[in-house]
Amino acid sequence: ETETEYELIAKNEVLQFYRPRTKYSHKGTYGHSLIIGGSYGKIGAVTLASKSALKAGSGLVTAYVPECGYQIVQTSVPEVMVLTNGESLIEAIDFEIEPTVIGIGIGMGTEDKTVKALEKFLKVNKMPLVVDADALNILSKNQNLLQFLPKESILTPHPKELERLVGKWKDDFEKLKKVKEFSEKQNVVMVIKGAHTITFFKGRGYINTTGNPGMATAGSGDTLTGIITGLVAQGYPSLHAAILGVYIHGKSADLSIANKGYQALTATDIIESMGSAFIDLF
Ligand code: AMP
Ligand code: MG
Repeated sequence: ETETEYELIAKNEVLQFYRPRTKYSHKGTYGHSLIIGGSYGKIGAVTLASKSALKAGSGLVTAYVPECGYQIVQTSVPEVMVLTNGESLIEAIDFEIEPTVIGIGIGMGTEDKTVKALEKFLKVNKMPLVVDADALNILSKNQNLLQFLPKESILTPHPKELERLVGKWKDDFEKLKKVKEFSEKQNVVMVIKGAHTITFFKGRGYINTTGNPGMATAGSGDTLTGIITGLVAQGYPSLHAAILGVYIHGKSADLSIANKGYQALTATDIIESMGSAFIDLF
């Protein structure tokens, strides 16, 4: 077995592939993100992710939620379009639009109907996916579905979701070995979230250098899912979208700290600082 090579990701590294906007562009240039998730009482996750995709620069964003989320998303983010299916949870996933990328799983729940909907969808889907939260939990319990993930999909587990997906580890070495093996076997980008988020792809690890403990707060991960989805929409290859997304997410939180403080930092604060985080790249 070859040893894993690691790279630290700071501003210089993301600037190698960061793409500024060009003058003669239009919203079609920047893609269409579809965010699928939500259930009764957890529509906020989709609101946060949709807003984050928009703020990451996605030209268009559509949220796909159960009917109970329709008004909520429409009124909290007017820029986002909304599609619905199911009353209080997602019961089927089908749509007429042609998104560039789909972020799926946040706040979605793991009810039987939703599991069936996800299974059916994965078997026909051809779009690149950013897979998080309950979509990861469903995949963990139904590992036969992993084969239907499009190659170079991006998976963003937090430690508990990772454990469900790859099993328990006894130390960090074993954890990273499991992640690397999983990533290679499934041909997916693995974003291993934590104080130092590490992104794995093709046997290499990319260690993020931004972020702070203020980010240990509700909705923080949903924001990351939206950012990465919005970057894939703009044409970034999966690995670059993941690395840049994790960097911007952490940088936004770092820039928020000065006037928000660690305890009070919220996912909404992270989203509000995204503009400053992109400006800081110059
Ligand atoms: P989730 O658990 O899905 O909401 O994701 C939490 C997000 O916050 C991930 O992007 C983590 O990397 C980040 N995060 C959580 N705790 C910390 C911490 N102590 N330092 C830096 N980032 C953190
Ligand atoms: Mg999460």
